[in-house]
Amino acid sequence: LAEIETRLRRRLEVVVGPANVLVGAESTGSYTTDWTSRWSGEAAAVVRPGSTAEVVEVLRACTSAGLAVVPQGGNTSLAGGSVPRGGEIVLSTSRLRENGAPDGRGLAMTVGAGVVLAAVQERAHAAGLAFGVDLAARGTATIGGMAATNAGGLHVVAHGSMLQNIRGIEFVLADGRVIDRLAALPKDTAGYDLTSLVVGSEGTLGVITRLRLRLIAEPRYRACALLGLRSVGDAVTLAASLPTDLPHLRSLEFVLGDGMELVCQEARLSRPFPERYPCYLFVEVAGVAPVLDELTSALIDRDEIAADVVATGSDEVDALLRYREGQTEAIRALGVPRKFDVAVPLDGVEAFLATLGERLQSEIPGARCLSFGHLAEGNIHVNVLPPDGIEDERVEDVVLGLVLESGGTISAEHGIGIAKAHWLERMRGADDVSAMRSIKAALDPGSFMNPGVIFPL
Ligand SMILES: Cc1cc2nc3c(=O)[nH]c(=O)nc-3n(C[C@H](O)[C@H](O)[C@H](O)COP(=O)(O)OP(=O)(O)OC[C@H]3O[C@@H](n4cnc5c(N)ncnc54)[C@H](O)[C@@H]3O)c2cc1C
Repeated sequence: LAEIETRLRRRLEVVVGPANVLVGAESTGSYTTDWTSRWSGEAAAVVRPGSTAEVVEVLRACTSAGLAVVPQGGNTSLAGGSVPRGGEIVLSTSRLRENGAPDGRGLAMTVGAGVVLAAVQERAHAAGLAFGVDLAARGTATIGGMAATNAGGLHVVAHGSMLQNIRGIEFVLADGRVIDRLAALPKDTAGYDLTSLVVGSEGTLGVITRLRLRLIAEPRYRACALLGLRSVGDAVTLAASLPTDLPHLRSLEFVLGDGMELVCQEARLSRPFPERYPCYLFVEVAGVAPVLDELTSALIDRDEIAADVVATGSDEVDALLRYREGQTEAIRALGVPRKFDVAVPLDGVEAFLATLGERLQSEIPGARCLSFGHLAEGNIHVNVLPPDGIEDERVEDVVLGLVLESGGTISAEHGIGIAKAHWLERMRGADDVSAMRSIKAALDPGSFMNPGVIFPL
């Protein structure tokens, strides 16, 4: 193996230059442990190709040497799929940084897979346009990684997930074939939609190299209300009606009482209200014309609202949303949580959270649970900090078992990764998973692309 690796290393150095082939724990460390610090493994090498042609050569070199490849963007995945399990080549997209100019008439922009979300947002903003997907990891998460996980984020209620915001894609299969779907006409039904197949495939079918993104008019007016509520049920009642009452609704997010206390403490924010509430709802509207009146009229005389504060203008709105966006970071400060990204039907959210609390208390006494998320989609980020010595499986059985009983999904937006691979068949059923495996076998017969992700090894 060492000899193969030495020969492969030389070949890779010829393709991408010696500075872009990293070997040894010291130089590969930041690529081999995930953002949560929960998963890590050794990499045979980290390779950083700078163009589609170099990705083709890197994949050909690795597969002919029999080494598996883990594509990696910003390494902000919360499902463990972006780091090696042991001995793979990490293909980092960090040099795929083409950042094309927005095409105002076509409302589109072509970018390299390694461009980070914040750079796309800045580029679009400079042209008076915007990108429809936003998430708190915007400074590090790449557009390629977001496409590979079909990331959702804060504005799904208004603009959908990544799939709805991608017009076309270029990707490279394990054997080096390049599939170019960048032309991206508004109507095109010629054959299978390979773009939607690759979006959400988590690096298991190939490497996404370039993307044509759909842009929207930049909303110049923003307003956001933070509501203090007496129960999750009140939040659900509001979440069921606000999307129809608010044509310019942009995000509808919730945080529970414990999470609000935690973020105030960790991010040193002052409490939003003198009183504490069991649940908080963030209602954001945005548009090209003023939106404040729309928001205040929709919230007036709603018995569910116990307290409210309204912000207008981007700076004030961003400051208010910090209570929500700071959740993931604040929870990380407590330790390494077992993270779940689940969704249940909206009218089942209250029962789900109540039953989850009861079951954790009876089955894993002492476990701390913090939940928050994208209420419009019934998407709950459940974070469990169990007492020492509790196996992951026990926590998963409680949380994911309840999700399946509730008619929900084990992954709403983060992907399956390695974290949930062994639950996929329980959720989808054997026939469904075997159809997915057939697709994988057809496009990557040697199973070189991200083995262990989506399907357990
Ligand atoms: C603070 C914080 C907040 C977050 N909020 C959200 C949120 O609101 N919504 C949400 O959906 N996610 C969220 N995430 C999760 C994460 O940011 C997303 O999953 C993001 O899409 C990952 O992008 P990345 O570039 O970091 O990908 P990575 O973590 O590097 O990789 C993720 C997966 O995609 C694959 N991959 C990466 N690049 C490519 C490529 N070019 N071609 C093929 N496969 C590739 C990897 O192999 C891996 O399986 C959050 C994470 C953090 C840390």
